[in-house]
Amino acid sequence: MAMTAIDGGSDADGGHRAMNEFEVIGRYFDRRGVAATADGRVVLGIGDDCALLRPPAAGQLLAISSDMLVEGRHFLAGSDASAVGHKTLAVNLSDLAAMGAEPLGFTLSVALPAIDPDWLERFTQGLFALADAHRCPLVGGDTTRGPLCLSVTVFGSVPEATALRRDGACVGDDIWVSGPLGGAAAAVEGRGRGEPGDARRAAGLDRPRPRLALGRALLGVASAALDVSDGTVGDLAHVLDASTRRQGRPLGAVLEAEWLPVDPALSARDRTQALQWALHGGDDYELVFTAAASQRDRLAGLQCHDGFVSGAPIRIGSVVAQEGVRLHAADGTSRLVAGGFDHFATP
Ligand code: ADP
Ligand code: MG
Repeated sequence: MAMTAIDGGSDADGGHRAMNEFEVIGRYFDRRGVAATADGRVVLGIGDDCALLRPPAAGQLLAISSDMLVEGRHFLAGSDASAVGHKTLAVNLSDLAAMGAEPLGFTLSVALPAIDPDWLERFTQGLFALADAHRCPLVGGDTTRGPLCLSVTVFGSVPEATALRRDGACVGDDIWVSGPLGGAAAAVEGRGRGEPGDARRAAGLDRPRPRLALGRALLGVASAALDVSDGTVGDLAHVLDASTRRQGRPLGAVLEAEWLPVDPALSARDRTQALQWALHGGDDYELVFTAAASQRDRLAGLQCHDGFVSGAPIRIGSVVAQEGVRLHAADGTSRLVAGGFDHFATP
């Protein structure tokens, strides 16, 4: 779309001039020739009216997901641009991971308040480092002026028969999570209070690692899966709701408080608060999934390499025939932590 030139860049003589849309695209986003094209699946990338991709092979479906990051809502103004670039793509790749899909490529639409070469340099460095690590090329997008907003649509390929949908959970299935919970929420809270924060926790929040290898290892093993973006319990409730609709009978969950992998960085914190973050905090981007009890040994021994060697998934509870999510404590008591009320209700 036509766009007026945006301020930014400078002439060789040091004078200020406007960089136009095409210069921005050419300088920062168009990497023709970079060996990121996923096995020739991208026939035509940036530069034409459309990108042209080969459809997935027989037996595979095209998996598509979009996620938008808005300054002030999903990241703070003044955040490290490289981390913003990483996260913009990471949250989208996490959706592919939660489906068991393999990345094919992505588009990026950006609204920029002005052209800031340093910011764009760092943003694209973080973005392309992750894209290249997962062989997921940028194939197109849109560039316009506006309040800082970054929107990615990612394309992937997933086997039709085993795609990790949300609606396949059954009564008696185990519930698993792929790694520690609550660290990102604690980092958000600390940052809000101006604390410097724990570096590892901050890295988890700013540079989440999409669990793509794990997602693919769960094909044919997990009965349902999703990634934890809004909070473990709320996201698990989406699996239960979808599976309830599909099966036409109520499903719920019982979680064992003692089994929850509360982020070790929170061990010095108040146990109730740490548990609260693990249950309801968002942004951890771990996978929560269900699987038949017959898969227990296989899952307990599973090691996946998602840019780091992950520990095996952790079993946290089971799917039951009673609505709601209950948390079972070591002393035998249990309480409802989701279901039967509106999470969005304001008092
Ligand atoms: P159109 O006029 O068809 O909308 P544009 O002028 O917006 O095309 O974009 C020109 C080319 O650059 C297209 O191939 C488009 O996909 C690509 N493009 C634009 N912005 C971006 C971006 N932020 N990232 C990647 N590709 C982009
Ligand atoms: Mg356009």
